[in-house]
Amino acid sequence: MQDIIDRFISYVTIDTESNPDSETTPSTEKQWDLANKLVEELKTIGMQDVTIDDKAYIMATLPSNVEHEVPVIGFISHFDTSPDFCGANVKPQIIKDYDGKDIVLNAEKNIVLSPSYFKDLLQYKGQTLITTDGTTLLGADDKAGITEIVTAMEFLINNPEIKHGKIRIGFTPDEEIGRGAHHFDVEKFGAQWAYTMDGSQVGELEYENFNAAGAKITFKGKSVHPGYAKGKMINSMLIANDFINELPSGETPEETKGYEGFFHVHHFNGSIEETVVELIIRDHNSKKFEKRKEKIQKIASKINKKFSKQFGEDIVIAEIKDQYYNMKEKVLPVKYIVAIAEKAMKELNIKPIIKPIRGGTDGSQLSYKGLPCPNIFAGGHNFHGKYEYVPVESMQKAVEVIVKIAELTALPHFGLEAPKKEK
Ligand SMILES: [Zn+2]
Repeated sequence: MQDIIDRFISYVTIDTESNPDSETTPSTEKQWDLANKLVEELKTIGMQDVTIDDKAYIMATLPSNVEHEVPVIGFISHFDTSPDFCGANVKPQIIKDYDGKDIVLNAEKNIVLSPSYFKDLLQYKGQTLITTDGTTLLGADDKAGITEIVTAMEFLINNPEIKHGKIRIGFTPDEEIGRGAHHFDVEKFGAQWAYTMDGSQVGELEYENFNAAGAKITFKGKSVHPGYAKGKMINSMLIANDFINELPSGETPEETKGYEGFFHVHHFNGSIEETVVELIIRDHNSKKFEKRKEKIQKIASKINKKFSKQFGEDIVIAEIKDQYYNMKEKVLPVKYIVAIAEKAMKELNIKPIIKPIRGGTDGSQLSYKGLPCPNIFAGGHNFHGKYEYVPVESMQKAVEVIVKIAELTALPHFGLEAPKKEK
């Protein structure tokens, strides 16, 4: 277990925060620090074809050790950390044999990781936790995933009696700013399917995510001296307000769960002359997703109609851009790739937790680029903030899942009951 701890700490102590305002890839120079280290490490443990391209995408191969034909599978994670919280000077703390009580992360600043608030902690009583010192995030998202993949590859290299096909691994920059898959060369990767190791608690297995779009809505106005404004002034902020009120009630992130979609207004910036409202649209169901986008346009044209005489031109302009789609559509035709992961977990006495993601993963974009890619737990909790922690035992389990998936894939029918017919 010490190997995993040491490896993980060697990654999280390197700052790799990404930056959404940057145009380059990787978005921050410092991501190269860990990327270059990973390349060296992959070579050292004996991986083949270790490559890094000019955008810091890392790929490597573990060759097959069986004679027969086995599909090439992949494991993927990202090495950047979220710009939502400080990722520099991470000082991990190791709590051995966790007693189920409050963990003082930082006595000076009175920052406490408490199971009375974070109830998940209680399931890790007796385990070894890695936490922050209360001033940074930890970076288990997704350096836990990288730790697990490297450790699993090293284990397979050192235990050649475990039979497996060719395995490709991929580490990406800039996942946290939604670009991890953008420059991922699916053809070069050359796997039939892959798994992102980027979920949270032990057992998580996800192959459904939101369909997602972002909308930027611009409202025009006319500024006139308030004393002489009757019938003349058009206050764009008030029109924007009307627009928001026209959105269906009860369909916000804070009022929805499970498969329920939403509209989420996340930005409002206005003056009399111009107001810009930004919102995101999310729905698992692609038909409902299209309906939601239509709804935005319908409200816009209703308001445009109302003001067409007075304003002369469209007073509302709604620009909607699709961001990503539900990977389910790409995974269902090859559902056995989920069944393999499920079977791997069950064989390891891990209860699979299969649920829709209320967000997206790199895997959703990769699935649409031709690499079906469900998401598997990496073990961490409370991502993107100072309360982030990861139980070492969970990372160990993720390593075992990777090894087991590799094993199953080399068996007849992937170790599944009956050959799965593709639809
Ligand atoms: Zn992540």
